[in-house]
Amino acid sequence: CLTLAIETSCDETSAAVVAGGRQILSNIISSQVPVHQKFGGVVPEIASRKHIENVIPVVDEALQQAGVALAQISAIGVTYGPGLVGALLVGVAAAKALAFATGIPLVGVNHLEGHIFANFLAHAELEPPFVALVVSGGHTSLVSVQDYNQFALIGQTRDDAAGEAFDKVARVMGLPYPGGPQIDRLAAAGNPAAIDFPRALTGKSSFEFSFSGLKSAVLNYLNQAEQRGQRVSQADVAASFQAAVVDVLVSKAVQAARFYSVDRLVLAGGVAANSMLQAKLTGACTEQDIRLYYPGAVLCTDNAAMIACRAYYQFCSGKVSDLYLNAVPSLKIGC
Ligand code: ATP
Ligand code: MG
Ligand code: FE
Repeated sequence: CLTLAIETSCDETSAAVVAGGRQILSNIISSQVPVHQKFGGVVPEIASRKHIENVIPVVDEALQQAGVALAQISAIGVTYGPGLVGALLVGVAAAKALAFATGIPLVGVNHLEGHIFANFLAHAELEPPFVALVVSGGHTSLVSVQDYNQFALIGQTRDDAAGEAFDKVARVMGLPYPGGPQIDRLAAAGNPAAIDFPRALTGKSSFEFSFSGLKSAVLNYLNQAEQRGQRVSQADVAASFQAAVVDVLVSKAVQAARFYSVDRLVLAGGVAANSMLQAKLTGACTEQDIRLYYPGAVLCTDNAAMIACRAYYQFCSGKVSDLYLNAVPSLKIGC
């Protein structure tokens, strides 16, 4: 069973072919990062235009690299939310056109469920049930994955997402977009205990997150230092900020796994690529006898292979879409 998938929710145009749900035959990712970098973030209108230019060539390349003809495809998956509406619409329109022209079933996929499913591509032995921590540019959520098509949201951020906090802090530090990998690199040379930044909502056993206070604390620290003419160590600020984010993520993820009595924890989304998060969560999970899974860097950030994997499991259970499928910018998990 071969699934073709298209992903255009943000600033990556991607298409992939996956065999049997778990084997990647191709995963073409055309990144727009250089286009948006000079604006310090994603410009939605430009993203949509770039997707229009790229989507068909990227699909062609995915089929070609997989050595597969369109007629051999069993299902066409596409991200229909959450994401930027204009960007999503390009992928949805392309997938619907392909499905209509060929008669191949269409499968609308939730982008966040896709991020979680990247782990099935990276770990052949992984199966539900488990708890997933989705940490991306737009989301920070704990999800109970009971089965391949059964999810429950445990908790999410009240304000900024973890990745958003990384990107905003990086921006005020003068680092290029996207800021997460930049802070990760800079932090390696810094002292994570140098500055005591706040860890929000950790006291009570709440599964909600909040990162906007932390972001403000970093901005205040930088502004005050500037006013006093004090020299700050960029590496110490990066390391201390990152430690504050990671401490909260690690403690809540482990708490959630214990609360839901699962011995498997899955990391997903762009921030899952963070080296300190991986290291600290590995330590905490070992201590608690929890098996930790996370994908390689390419499968952490946006890609169509994870969408093809998710589409496969939906297709197998008859969860297909009709040609009225529309983009849903604020789509919730498990819907
Ligand atoms: P969403 O998935 O919520 O719609 P998105 O698709 O924009 O948002 P992803 O592609 O999953 O987000 O991830 C991008 C985010 O991951 C960015 O905020 C980026 O800074 C962050 N990121 C990537 N690598 C790292 C890293 N090593 N450390 C911290 N953050 C990282
Ligand atoms: Mg991106
Ligand atoms: Fe994403």
